[in-house]
Amino acid sequence: MDVIPVIGISGSIKPDESQLYLPREYMAAVLATGGIPMLLSPDMDEDRLALCLSHLHGVLLTGGGDIAPRLYHAMPQQGLGEVSPLRDGFELPLVRACHERQIPVLGICRGIQVMNVALGGTLCQDLATQFLGPSESKTPMLHNQTSPGQYSSHSIHIDKGSNLFAIVHETMIHVNSFHHQAVERVAPSLQTSSMAPDGVVEAVEDAALPFFLGVQWHPERMYRTDEFAYALFLTFVRAAGAYAMNRNL
Ligand code: MN
Repeated sequence: MDVIPVIGISGSIKPDESQLYLPREYMAAVLATGGIPMLLSPDMDEDRLALCLSHLHGVLLTGGGDIAPRLYHAMPQQGLGEVSPLRDGFELPLVRACHERQIPVLGICRGIQVMNVALGGTLCQDLATQFLGPSESKTPMLHNQTSPGQYSSHSIHIDKGSNLFAIVHETMIHVNSFHHQAVERVAPSLQTSSMAPDGVVEAVEDAALPFFLGVQWHPERMYRTDEFAYALFLTFVRAAGAYAMNRNL
């Protein structure tokens, strides 16, 4: 019996908290790779969330605003953008629950940051003003491109031993870049699987799980033309399918 993987998607919330929204590309990418996308309500309490997760096979965390620094025990610094306590309050427990149950998770942009913070890591609040990377120049590259998202703007290095490498089969690819924050201290249960040439973390994963991967770029804006972005979604949706099969056994 074939199982169609159902992918729960956490979207953005308007600042006045009156509306949920997300770019169509996230859902289109899930559909194009064989999944059924469903928008998740941030108003679920812990019990509802547990019930909901028992009907899902994967979770996609989308881009958006910043995470409140107190959630990683930091004070707000210059350059911090808009935060949504409602979204933070939903997504952090969501990530922890998925991690515990080994539900496949793909985190994109803010999503990689949510995964890292939820599991105990920290963030650089603003690359342009706060970043202290390993590179001698001390200033990061431009991570906010002006060209449209289907175009890449910088290279990333991919760790050969990572699950990400097993997806793209390359140690260097080019990605788009639309972020002003980044993972700083990586959570204990996660590993860095990719960095930009300036030392900015571009992907983290829990290699011990079938699929628990966060990327700092936006594959949903590239999957139509970029084989690696497509492979990322395809592998995620397939992992969700495998999870669905195993859970039914
Ligand atoms: Mn970048």
